[in-house]
Amino acid sequence: MDYQPLLSRIDQSRASLLSLLEEWAMINSGSTHREGLATMARQLTQTFHPLGGTAELIEAAPLQIVTSGGATQHQTAGQILRIRKRPAADRQVLLVGHMDTVFPADDLFQTCTDLGDGRLQGPGVADMKGGLLVMFAALRAFEASPVADRIGWEVLINGDEETGSFGSAHLIAESATRAHVGLGFEPSLPDGTLVGARKGSGNFTLVVRGRSAHAGREPHLGRNAITAAARLTLELDALNGGRPGLTVNMGKVEGGGALNVVPDLAILRLNVRMQEPADQNWFQARLDHLVTNANRQDGIQVTLHGRFSRPPKAMTPGLRQLLDLVQDCGRDLGLSLSDQPTGGCCDGNNMAATGLPTVDTLGVRGAHIHSAEEYMIKDSLTERAKLTALILLKLASGASPFPERERPS
Ligand SMILES: [Zn+2]
Repeated sequence: MDYQPLLSRIDQSRASLLSLLEEWAMINSGSTHREGLATMARQLTQTFHPLGGTAELIEAAPLQIVTSGGATQHQTAGQILRIRKRPAADRQVLLVGHMDTVFPADDLFQTCTDLGDGRLQGPGVADMKGGLLVMFAALRAFEASPVADRIGWEVLINGDEETGSFGSAHLIAESATRAHVGLGFEPSLPDGTLVGARKGSGNFTLVVRGRSAHAGREPHLGRNAITAAARLTLELDALNGGRPGLTVNMGKVEGGGALNVVPDLAILRLNVRMQEPADQNWFQARLDHLVTNANRQDGIQVTLHGRFSRPPKAMTPGLRQLLDLVQDCGRDLGLSLSDQPTGGCCDGNNMAATGLPTVDTLGVRGAHIHSAEEYMIKDSLTERAKLTALILLKLASGASPFPERERPS
């Protein structure tokens, strides 16, 4: 089968894709900006509409958060866009992306700048509004091909990836369970390098309560929550490296007030990353133990919130097979694509955890994501769209076999 005419059509759409990217990047869709997320969801629904299939907007599951006052509160993330085409086909490809960014509505970084050297700077241009356009352009080319009806596909675009996908993880798992190949559109490195294995991650919050008292008149009646939290901080920090590659980042501390008051509240927030699924149990057991010990102190009460949300993504035979296919397609396009492991995680972790072979860095080439220096390389938009289109075409035409699903981790 001659793929060239389909791929040329992607090249011809370069200007319109780039202008749509600028338009999307200027819609603020920070993970907590409900209105902006709703606008993005409408834009995406419209853009993907010509591809056909059944589109629906699904409410995210409510998430329990701990406020800086130590109270628990429910928060709801933005809606999730799901589009299914040919769900009855024997072979299914799942394409996952996110419409949220790390930039809140009041962030200073809200517009795009053409840097004049082939790079476009802007909020979310790489992570991952550029990736969403890669996904769209690839599917549009694929749907125009004579082999399109041989496979079904499902698009899932959430609005809470940057905050851990707590409200959408159940939908990702549901879709990943019925798919045979998983494609994610996180940015690749500037030179096109893909990510293979990824560490897993969990976020935890410890609410430490003591007893307040006047620091001058009756300090002996107080029980200092900050001091207790500080001890816990050092104990948790000491777990770094307790397993190969395991890291604990004490990320945020809150608490205290007037300096003449013994503080009765401190809140610790931490992120832990690990290489092996078994490391989760290792860490959880130690965390529970430290909390139990802290609770033995007179007048101190510690409550633990949070959990592991992204299981480690291992290099498996199925993932290797899929990466080989992607690299093969890259060679056809004149691209040499290597892969490497990372400590970062994304929805690809959750897709892979169901046993779905998943390559999750098919988005644009770019760098400095999560900062006001974020940029994407303009040439990579059509380059990566052709790459994903070719993957779909080879799978659908039978030129490349589908990798085997793995056992869920
Ligand atoms: Zn991302």
